[in-house]
Amino acid sequence: MALIIQKFGGSSVANAERVMNVARTITDTYKEGNDVVVVVSAQGDTTDDLIEKAMEINPRGSKREMDMLLTAGEQISIALLAMAIEKIGCPVVSLLGWQAGFHTNTAHGAARIEEIKADRLLKEIDKHKIVIVAGFQGIHKGDDLTTLGRGGSDTSAVALAAALHADLCQIYTDVTGVFTADPRKVPNAKKLTDITYDEMLELATLGAQVLNNRSVELAKKYNVEIEVLSSMVKEPGTIVREVAKMEKMLIRGVTKDMDVARISVVGMQDVPGNAFKLFSSLAAKGINIDVILQSVGRDGTKDISFTCAKSNAEQATELLENIFGLEGATVSCDTSIAKVSVVGAGMQSHAGTASKMFGALYEAGINISMISTSEITISVLIEKEMADKAVAAVHKAFFG
Ligand code: ADP
Ligand code: ASP
Ligand code: MG
Repeated sequence: MALIIQKFGGSSVANAERVMNVARTITDTYKEGNDVVVVVSAQGDTTDDLIEKAMEINPRGSKREMDMLLTAGEQISIALLAMAIEKIGCPVVSLLGWQAGFHTNTAHGAARIEEIKADRLLKEIDKHKIVIVAGFQGIHKGDDLTTLGRGGSDTSAVALAAALHADLCQIYTDVTGVFTADPRKVPNAKKLTDITYDEMLELATLGAQVLNNRSVELAKKYNVEIEVLSSMVKEPGTIVREVAKMEKMLIRGVTKDMDVARISVVGMQDVPGNAFKLFSSLAAKGINIDVILQSVGRDGTKDISFTCAKSNAEQATELLENIFGLEGATVSCDTSIAKVSVVGAGMQSHAGTASKMFGALYEAGINISMISTSEITISVLIEKEMADKAVAAVHKAFFG
């Protein structure tokens, strides 16, 4: 007998038929003699729809009330899934995040799990019930509901797997695993049998939404092996683990991130301390920055460009316009860009990955405006209209 965590994403429970299908997957696992704890997301586009409703009423509503609203999505899906399992005739109970003991910090909208107090959960498992837990949500010290950030149900599942020392953590979704590119955009993308935590973390952070990046971080920290697989098609998925059987692959995947804005500060005085002033003021406001480019100074001035998430762009631009000492500089913001990246531990031991990527972009007539690299990634900034073409061209260069 094993303890198995199964997580089902929004599209897997989008309608009654799919809820019944998921219920059968769960009860089949249960009937094989396993304990099953399930994490489920809100149905289909429910979370987006709730956000839209909030925007109609007050686009500047508080984050607390936003969390109160968004947690409702998962409350619906846990109850419906539990009813589906009751119909099949297995013992089941649904729990909201707080009932399942998800204690978080107070960062509404992007809360971090601090502890899972699993007493209630363990009692229900002891009674041999299937437990259905609402993903993406928790409660903070002040007793208010929190959410973990978009895609956060993956994190709920991995956190539970770690806390309960589960034998298996399965993330069921609407594709059959992790592919070398988004299989919906690149039809000949190949499914990976396995991938390392580090590679998956980069892919997730650089735009492959199949797993939430925090969930991968957590899985690495607590050594939770994840299987990503389809809730509709029965076939083995992709295993995310510490060491992957390196199929001779230079890179593991190509991905795009459309949530990028570029801020340029042009004509700053070329004196010591300006870069410090600029980036420390952004850090003080909690604005994460990514790719940085500084020009060679000329005529006593220099330019710095950097990228950040689109949601931070307005605040960053305003902030920099008001910094004393950057006077004379002009600040501009460009949201017409995208970041395309290749990820793979294999590139560490092979020269030529970058040139292969740049060659593919050149042949496709795509201009690169910024480049950044890490040990296992190469990213380029390009015009956002070119993103899909770029992913396809780079994927073709590496995977044929
Ligand atoms: P869920 O609702 O199950 O959480 P998501 O929509 O969050 O599902 O993630 C699954 C989607 O991720 C897929 O439908 C696919 O379009 C997209 N995706 C992007 N990059 C990849 C990739 N490299 N491999 C697999 N899927 C990917
Ligand atoms: N329902 C939440 C979202 O849409 C959480 C999740 O799907 O993981 O972001
Ligand atoms: Mg998801």
